Amino acid sequence: SAFRLKNKIILITGASSGIGFAIAEQFAKQSDGEIKLILGARRVEKLDLLKEKLVQKYKNIDILIKFLDVSNSEHIDSFWESLPDRWADVDILVNNAGKALGQNFVGEISEEDINECFQTNVVGMISMTQHALKGMQMRNKGDIVQVGSIAGRETYPSGSIYCSTKFALNAFTSSLRKELTATKIRVIEVAPGNTKTEFAQVRFGGDLEKSSKVYEGTVPLDPTDVAEIAVFACSRPENVVLSEAVIMATNQA
Ligand code: NDP
Repeated sequence: SAFRLKNKIILITGASSGIGFAIAEQFAKQSDGEIKLILGARRVEKLDLLKEKLVQKYKNIDILIKFLDVSNSEHIDSFWESLPDRWADVDILVNNAGKALGQNFVGEISEEDINECFQTNVVGMISMTQHALKGMQMRNKGDIVQVGSIAGRETYPSGSIYCSTKFALNAFTSSLRKELTATKIRVIEVAPGNTKTEFAQVRFGGDLEKSSKVYEGTVPLDPTDVAEIAVFACSRPENVVLSEAVIMATNQA
């Protein structure tokens, strides 16, 4: 299936760590480096390290690093406008960037956090999709890969805001898939459970003690476990869409 990925242009949001980082690595691996990756995130220095790592391993790989803040709609517009011509025809968009929120009761969550969570996980994700779709609809091909969550399938106490954003992602994704049924554009949602990334630290504002407790007594997913499924979906034959994949750690309730 490597030939199906060959020379494709893949744009990954939030590629600087965790699942996004692993998805970039998996695309490189599954295509034997015959691929073009646009890596976006705010921490550009982390993207640089990833680029270095991949370029050393795969001599033909082509990588463009770009500062990207998906919580800012105006910035998203200029991000797309400033893509060099040879990078503009994005074949696969991976909407992975996401913001976690600490487990707080509704009354304790600041308006700022609520806005940032929705801007990043919902509004920015939609805007990125709209931009990518312009070219995909003209060429009548492409894949939109959504990193959802089991928090978009089930709620948990004090997950009100984060769960709302992932339920919204799921609804947007399923509606978009229906809208595009007459086209060759595939819409894929990968919804992971507990995955060991920096997410827990972000959730608890850098509190390492609290964040390490998230994984206590469990064997969480590795970001690569999630990335493999995302890349597998993109390397299926054109007539096959793996529309939704819920992937959990075996021992997660
Ligand atoms: P990480 O915290 O390791 O990665 C999050 C990524 O998103 C980072 O690369 C970060 O980059 C990027 N990001 C955050 N905000 C923005 C922004 N405004 N603009 C651009 N990039 C942004 O966590 P994960 O890898 O775990 O998270 C990736 C996705 O997986 C998220 O959508 C999350 O909801 C989802 N998920 C995670 C689960 C888990 O248990 N870890 C479970 C289910 C789903 P930077 O800070 O450099 O901008």
